[in-house]
Amino acid sequence: MLGQLGGGAKLLAGGQSLIPLLKLRFANPEHLVDLNFISGTSFIKADGGALRFGAMTRHAEIENSALARTIPVLHDCAAGIADVQVRNRGTIGGSLAEADPSGDWANALITLDTTVHCLGPSGARAIHLKDFIKDAYTNALAHDELVSEVEVKMPPKGSGGAYLAFKRSASVYPSASVAVQLSMAGDVCQEAAIALGCVGLTAIRATDAEAALRGKNLSDNLHDQAIAAAEAARAAADPQDDMRGSAEYKRQLVVALVKRAIAIAVRRARGEQVDGTHLYA
Ligand SMILES: Cc1cc2nc3c(=O)[nH]c(=O)nc-3n(C[C@H](O)[C@H](O)[C@H](O)COP(=O)(O)OP(=O)(O)OC[C@H]3O[C@@H](n4cnc5c(N)ncnc54)[C@H](O)[C@@H]3O)c2cc1C
Repeated sequence: MLGQLGGGAKLLAGGQSLIPLLKLRFANPEHLVDLNFISGTSFIKADGGALRFGAMTRHAEIENSALARTIPVLHDCAAGIADVQVRNRGTIGGSLAEADPSGDWANALITLDTTVHCLGPSGARAIHLKDFIKDAYTNALAHDELVSEVEVKMPPKGSGGAYLAFKRSASVYPSASVAVQLSMAGDVCQEAAIALGCVGLTAIRATDAEAALRGKNLSDNLHDQAIAAAEAARAAADPQDDMRGSAEYKRQLVVALVKRAIAIAVRRARGEQVDGTHLYA
């Protein structure tokens, strides 16, 4: 239908980004192609060492999924998006396609091995998440393509992660958010992925912060290691002043969130059950 209707047509998923834009007249499509009645587009499956999410899977379905809980970052992220009403409608595919710099999914999923499966008239293609989001509100889809599925590889045994956001209230986007994913061999950090949200045009991988943890024994002096990583993350953040806070305030948030998320990720990597809830002002 997108091919037939041309550039004036837009897909409608949960409508939680698109409908507000229509109300404000920032978007004015000639046609809406409603994905809500296409069966088989909402699912969560474990398959060959990966979890697969249909594009129309709602945030609430992921929040309540035992399978999604096996990768704690996914549960943390889904459970903290806005409020129940938004989570009941909004979809993982719509969120990634929207590529909102403040959106939670891209920031959480960029710390995992995530592939976005796309479908169009010329067939299917798989795009790694880091190549799918091109810029703020810009993705790699052609006009007549859609996201069909999001595939997340299961992290290796001994991994732990956490996704934390700081929000002024439940129903608003975060002021800053942080995702941390660690692969541990005993107490030694083998691999680290740290991503920062709402402090740049897209999620930022804080590579110097990751390097500050990689190869380190995190049982020796976790406090100092986490501070070193958090300070490197502060330097990687590129926030703007806006109604959610000054740039300096958001840099401070990044430092605090990175420290907390590392502490939770380490405990989860050891097999502890730790609730990682967002922080509300
Ligand atoms: C009050 C409020 C608070 C919110 N707070 C947060 C928050 O804290 N964190 C957060 O992450 N999000 C938040 N959101 C946004 C919410 O998560 C949206 O659900 C999400 O951004 C978009 O998903 P959707 O399914 O609603 O997409 P829609 O609004 O239907 O579509 C968004 C865009 O993606 C395109 N699209 C949709 N599905 C596909 C597909 N399968 N393939 C290709 N293109 C597609 C549409 O054409 C449109 O351009 C909030 C929304 C509201 C209204």
